[in-house]
Amino acid sequence: MRTARAEIALPTPQTRADGLNTLAEVTERLLSQVNYVRHIVVSCGGLVRKDGTVEKSLYTPFSGVNLASFFQDQFKIGALVRNDAHLQFLGLPVGRGTFVLLTWGTGIGGAFGHNGWPAEGHSNFAGEFGHSLKGSSTKCCACGSRGCLDLTASGRALDANLGQNWYDRLTDMNVAERLKQVGCELASVQTLLGRLFDPRCLCLTGRIFGIAQVRMALNNRPAGDWPRYRSIFCLDSWALIRRGAIRLVDSAEGIL
Ligand SMILES: [Zn+2]
Repeated sequence: MRTARAEIALPTPQTRADGLNTLAEVTERLLSQVNYVRHIVVSCGGLVRKDGTVEKSLYTPFSGVNLASFFQDQFKIGALVRNDAHLQFLGLPVGRGTFVLLTWGTGIGGAFGHNGWPAEGHSNFAGEFGHSLKGSSTKCCACGSRGCLDLTASGRALDANLGQNWYDRLTDMNVAERLKQVGCELASVQTLLGRLFDPRCLCLTGRIFGIAQVRMALNNRPAGDWPRYRSIFCLDSWALIRRGAIRLVDSAEGIL
């Protein structure tokens, strides 16, 4: 098996056409590095149907686009298109049992499942934790709900509140105070997910989980908190296709 990697530093595409052009450019670079590609696996944030249609994606310009058809038309390659957190779940170092994944980035997402496979739900939309759990805001969210966790604890919310380079100013008083609040919100979410799913392991991925005050809030579980599960911080995990299925590889954590 060969691994090819292509990264292109471009401004975030604002229009659907820009987004598809960027996708085509990245794909061309990847394909130029390998001789034969049978399928391509594509992850996209938001509500992604099994046929590859992105029903709604708040932070990408692909709402309403069938990405599987795009790759078929442009590159004559079959594409498996899935929600980004569902694919990340397949890359977790999990074994048997129930696992929950909470992902933090531009938005907050997640997945849950059993024995390494994510539960997809009837519409393939399961696990949208950022838009199903509540945060401290009472504002309306672009998803149509009110008070979503995404409005206060996501990367986009922190960028809007603290400025885009807040990660370089962790010791500034306003940044530290905001991160403490976000840590408390995520700690409540951790408890809620633990009690909802009773997982063997709760996996947290995203840059914010590397920040000391956030980790402290998450590790500071009250005595007698139930159920008892292990939280792991997967800051770097990736998926590989093996034996026809996408399975995990994680150098830091190993197989659980
Ligand atoms: Zn929402």
